[in-house]
Amino acid sequence: MRRQADLYRELPAIDELLRDAGIAELVAQEGPSAVADACRAVLGYLRAEISAGHLDAGKLALALSGIPAAVEKELCKAVRYSLRPVINATGVVLHTNLGRAPLSATALEHILEAAGGYSNLEFDLDSGERGSRDVHVDRLFRRLLSDESAELRSSGRARAPVPTQADHTPAVSQAGSSTIVVNNNAAAVLLALNTLAEGSEVIVSRGELVEIGGSFRIPDVMGKSGAILREVGTTNRTRIADYERAINERTKLLLRVHRSNFQITGFTEQPSIAELVALAQKHKLPLMEDLGSGALFDLRAVGINDEPGVLDSLRAGVLIVTYSGDKLLGGPQAGLISGREDLVKKMRANSLFRALRVDKLIYAALEATLLSYVKRDYAAIPVLRTMEVPKTEIARRAQGLVAKLGKSFRAEMVEGQSLIGGGSAPAATLPTILIALSCDSLSADQIAARLRASDTPVIARVEEGRVLLDLRTVLPAQDQVLSQILAQIAPV
Ligand SMILES: *Cc1c(COP(=O)(O)O)cnc(C)c1O
Repeated sequence: MRRQADLYRELPAIDELLRDAGIAELVAQEGPSAVADACRAVLGYLRAEISAGHLDAGKLALALSGIPAAVEKELCKAVRYSLRPVINATGVVLHTNLGRAPLSATALEHILEAAGGYSNLEFDLDSGERGSRDVHVDRLFRRLLSDESAELRSSGRARAPVPTQADHTPAVSQAGSSTIVVNNNAAAVLLALNTLAEGSEVIVSRGELVEIGGSFRIPDVMGKSGAILREVGTTNRTRIADYERAINERTKLLLRVHRSNFQITGFTEQPSIAELVALAQKHKLPLMEDLGSGALFDLRAVGINDEPGVLDSLRAGVLIVTYSGDKLLGGPQAGLISGREDLVKKMRANSLFRALRVDKLIYAALEATLLSYVKRDYAAIPVLRTMEVPKTEIARRAQGLVAKLGKSFRAEMVEGQSLIGGGSAPAATLPTILIALSCDSLSADQIAARLRASDTPVIARVEEGRVLLDLRTVLPAQDQVLSQILAQIAPV
């Protein structure tokens, strides 16, 4: 057996490798630097194998002949994007781990045209002077959050108008509410609390001290904002009198938080918005509400009744609302703060706003999304479209997919529920038809792993030993790809 030093000498030099016919082709595609890196990595593996004593001369010769293929594999791994499109077959419409809301076609087009070159992001075309980035969306929010829009909204749909719980409507007027945009809703809550209550007390019900997604906790955000949390009531019951008793000269704000991802049932009590508004007015304190999802669309149209709308809260007399751009609104990740002009103006003047602001891509996506709302073109917004797909349509598509499956899987169509997710009402579900897959040679977890490993990864639910596919969240254009993937991963 030759000495290790001799084996090392058998390894080709990088230059030599780059001239190899198979590898030269890769160089033409991906450039010399990425390919050289891949060659270095492969030679590194071989050196490690030699040093571990795993290779003799014969095995090394075999490994050397496999270098071009290994380099290609290594290169694929290195130059492939890490952030990749996936097929969401979970049926969770707003899946935080899968990027929440897909953007509309017009939002994507607008990102391209506004961000592919220069734009008037902060430039006033009339005066030729420096402008403000807020104007691009504030004008649309004003229209959507005005009284006029509320009337159009309710008369445009065949249902009773939104009940107003208070006749006092300070944040909503003909001119609409003022809105600013920050990086996400967590940032919106931070900025609002810091602006309105730094160094002062904010009263919150113990039943609303929520944690969302493991990283957003109201008490923590409150701490970072410099506001002092004043908890009132108990987990399940808080009365308006509890709030009133806690008010003192240090109190600056009343905060209401939407219980996005949980429900408290049974022996419970929370004051209504109307009661809180009345109390806030009596003590001349602003009332703020963290809505979380904050719908701009009347979800009663899709059978979801307990998800608060932005306009509902503002009309009821809440002075400031905060909500996400990429939840039920169906736009890009953003945090929106809407409310009374003077309060929003203070937030805009806070230096934290500069640190939390968003860039032109987000303004472009948000402007296009809001424009669809202004035009009442709800079908343009993927999240709303997904929620409106009827069960019969999902069943029809599922049938098509099952028919193409062949005999490799057992497939059954079962009744089930799609979830709205993304911090909207926990009970917010939509009836759907699921494809339940199983087979003898693979466990459900193994099938799910194969689905995730496909070129376009497919993410599915696993329940009770079966893989469940919900086509509600699979874009119709992806049905064919999904069918091909199922054929590819089928056991032979
Ligand atoms: C989702 C949610 C948040 C956090 O919003 P992000 O946009 O994810 O930062 C905060 N509060 C409530 C009530 C929520 O539902």
